[in-house]
Formats: sequence, C-alpha cells, structure tokens
Amino acid sequence: MDLVEEYDSPLYVYDESTIRSMARDFSGSFSNAYVNSRVSYSFKAFASPALAKILEEEGIGVDIVSGGELAVARMAGFPAGELNFNGNNKSRQELEEAIAYGIARITIDGFPEIDLLNSVAGEQGIRQPVLVRVSPSVDAHSHRLTTTGILDTKFGFSIETGHAELAIEQAIEAPNLDLRGIHFHLGSPIFELEPYTEAIAYVMAFAADMRDRYGLELHEFSPGGGFALGYKRDALPLPISDYANAIAEALRAGCDAHGFDEPLLIVEPGRALIGRAGVAVYTVGAIKEIPGVRTYVSVDGGMGDNIRPALYESEYEAFSVNRATEAPDGQYRIAGKYCESGDILINEASLPKPKPGDLIALPASGAYTVAMASNYNMVPRPAIVMVADGEARLIRRRETYDDLLATSKV
Ligand SMILES: *Cc1c(COP(=O)(O)O)cnc(C)c1O
Repeated sequence: MDLVEEYDSPLYVYDESTIRSMARDFSGSFSNAYVNSRVSYSFKAFASPALAKILEEEGIGVDIVSGGELAVARMAGFPAGELNFNGNNKSRQELEEAIAYGIARITIDGFPEIDLLNSVAGEQGIRQPVLVRVSPSVDAHSHRLTTTGILDTKFGFSIETGHAELAIEQAIEAPNLDLRGIHFHLGSPIFELEPYTEAIAYVMAFAADMRDRYGLELHEFSPGGGFALGYKRDALPLPISDYANAIAEALRAGCDAHGFDEPLLIVEPGRALIGRAGVAVYTVGAIKEIPGVRTYVSVDGGMGDNIRPALYESEYEAFSVNRATEAPDGQYRIAGKYCESGDILINEASLPKPKPGDLIALPASGAYTVAMASNYNMVPRPAIVMVADGEARLIRRRETYDDLLATSKV
C-alpha cells in the first residue's frame, strides 16, 4: 500500500530474495543432478539491467533473442561469456552487435542464418561457437506435445523432414562457425517430465547419426526451457529438482546408449525463474453490476501491461491488498481499462466485494507481463520496483506522456 502511495499504480513489484532463491533452486537442482550444467535465464520473460546484475551475482547466464535485449544486458555490463542468442529471424545487425560484444554462443534457427552468421563472423575475424536448434517431433502416439504441432512450427530445423540434418551438415562445413552441439525447446509451460525425456532420447539418437555421418561433436546440449510456473493454487508445477533429475537421467542414458561423453547441459528457464518473484498491483475504479449476470470490476491497468489472459487465456489469482483479512463474498470479473472487450485479467476472482480505491494484487505476474507491455490507448507503461531487505528501489520509472511523444512528429 505504501509502495502504491509512493509510485502510483499499476505497479509491478519484484522481490529480490525470491529471484535469488529461484536462481539457486535452478542452479542447485541441475548441478546436483548433472555436474556439468549451466542455467541460462530466458531474458524475454522479463529483461532488466537490475535483474541482469542479480543473475550475474548468482552465476546464472542470460539468453537473449534480440539486439534490444543485448543492449539491456550490455547496460548492466553483463559478461559476454555468459550470453547466448536465440531466435528464428536474427538480423545481420543483431548478429554483428552480438559477435562484437563477444557473445558465448548463438543458436542457429534457419538456413539463411548459416551463411549470414558465417559471413559476419568472418568479417570480425572469429570462429563463432554455435548450436543448431532442431525441432524433435516424435512419434505422434507418444504425447500431445509431440504431435504435428511440433512439426508445424516456425522454430527449429525439423529432424523429421531432413532439414535438421542439412543444417548440421552446412554448419559443420561453414569455416567461421564452430558447431558445439544441439539445442531444442519444446514450448511452455510444460507440467510433465515425459516431453523432455522423450525428446532427449530422440535427439540423442539423431546426434549419434550426425556424428557417424558428418563427424558432429556433441560438446553442448540444451533441452531449452518451458518449466511450468504455478500461476494458480490448483495447478502447481513439479519441483525443479524433478525436472533436473529427469533431464539428467535422460541425457546420461542417451550418452550411454550412443557412446557420447557427457556434454555440457544448458537449461533455459524463463517463467519458472522469474514469474513468482513479481506481483502486479492495481487500483479498482469503475464497478459495473449486471443483475443476474456478473459484476465487472475495472482496474487501472490490463492488457497494456499484461496481455497474457487476452493472448492465450492465461489464468491468474487475485487478492485484495487493503482488505486481506476479509473473506471473499463472491466471484468478480477483473477487467482492464483498455478499449477492448477482451481486456479481461481474470474471469472469476474470489474477492471481498470490491470498492473503488481498493488495491488488487495478482501474484506470479513476473513473467511475460511488463516484458510484453504496450502503449495501446497511449497509456504509459507502469513503474517497476525491486524490493530487497525491506527496502524498495525503483528499477524502471513509470513512463510519462513525454516518453510517449518522444518519437513522434507533427
Ligand atoms: C522462451 C524460451 C525459453 C523460456 O521459456 P519459459 O517458458 O519462459 O521457460 C527458453 N528457450 C527458448 C529457446 C525460448 O524461446
């Protein structure tokens, strides 16, 4: 409540100790399960220089997907040796910037990128370490995540179509690329372990085939991210250590089966690392009761700062900040302030009857919220504060109208 008084709402509040404990949970769980592993946080879930600093202190790497995210990492002085670059359509300029910064590895995801990257690396006089991203559509009757949905995606070279093989062959032949291994990412959020273990077995068999045919050396292996996050009380994910044990076991089994030395394992959590550390706080404004139907409770944010419910029907819980001790008396639909009927944050939130001026908080709002924020309706994007040791510090100020107009001309 004091924070909203000071910084206004909507307000995003991140808790530094939760970030650190999740970072340690990931690095501890994976290094327990598989010593030669590293955790590389997917910056797109929430990219901020303040966060990059914390991750650096915790020994966590950062995965970027654009030149803009590289600029954020650079602002924090984030070590280039801990940076990876993913994405299905990186531009020449982005690749030039990343290589100039000395980025540790780049995951190739598309045929034009092989030539482009080879030429950019050549111009800068280096041999760039790379991974090739494959898409492991396996046997359709195994699991819902491994049906044609995986073949029909813009990401990765499909193993099934033979494109992955061609990409590996070309990457090995490119003189300025140093192919370090294979990457895949199945999507998210993944609440089960089987998609990882099945895909790892399949990709390791593919890697063995590529070694036999083209001399592929498997120094590094990444099964991506996608670890689930508990957005709601009734859909809690498995502990991180379960993912770590299952992935480590599947990778070791693949190495044993195909005679590989154990490669470096790189995991790329996004939402599961940062999601729980962030809370969104809104102020209730207009309330519209439709007798016999429902009550719409409008707040001062919405799809401009959290588009996930509108974009993919994501669900959140809500609680009343200023009336936390009162029992809920019904279900209320939490609507945003944006001019779209689809701008609904929560379809049915259990709350004590909201009144204008109440503060409502949405926990587990730290991932893909402010990261995806827009200025739709020309609404300035919210402030973000980081709380540590009982102290709050502003890590991004609220935008002003001047910020919104800075790029326009009459
Ligand atoms: C988005 C992404 C991730 C992170 O996904 P989460 O669901 O946030 O864990 C990891 N790897 C790649 C390649 C991604 O695109």
